[in-house]
Amino acid sequence: MYHHSGSVARQAAGSGAGLLDPVASDSESIVFQRCTWCGTAMYHRLLCPVCQGSDLRTERSEGVGTVRHATIVHRNTPAARNVSLVELAEGFVVRGRVMGPLIGIHSGDRVRLSTAKDPVRGEPVFQLVDEPYRAWT
Ligand SMILES: [Zn+2]
Repeated sequence: MYHHSGSVARQAAGSGAGLLDPVASDSESIVFQRCTWCGTAMYHRLLCPVCQGSDLRTERSEGVGTVRHATIVHRNTPAARNVSLVELAEGFVVRGRVMGPLIGIHSGDRVRLSTAKDPVRGEPVFQLVDEPYRAWT
């Protein structure tokens, strides 16, 4: 008696399945490329650094990562600022800034994306993830 509604719902869902999500214009997340051949994640590359494949698909990062290298830059800026390399959970590395005290940012610190594009420099900005304890301090 009521089975007709189910087929209508399936048709509607199927018609939208081929559409790509609009990944640009979202400033609160980082998009990256993943090689469809070997699965390597990369940021702002045209070719896969591992297999040189050019068949890359765009994915959206969760925005959670770990500081791999942190430096303090004094040049060309009125105030010293932090420049860090952050390895995201998906396996790619971005250059950006971590908010917080400059001396309080170290390799291994866990960070979370705050803004994908700093309005001044267009760099991703991260914030330290507050942890209730530190295992090795
Ligand atoms: Zn590859």
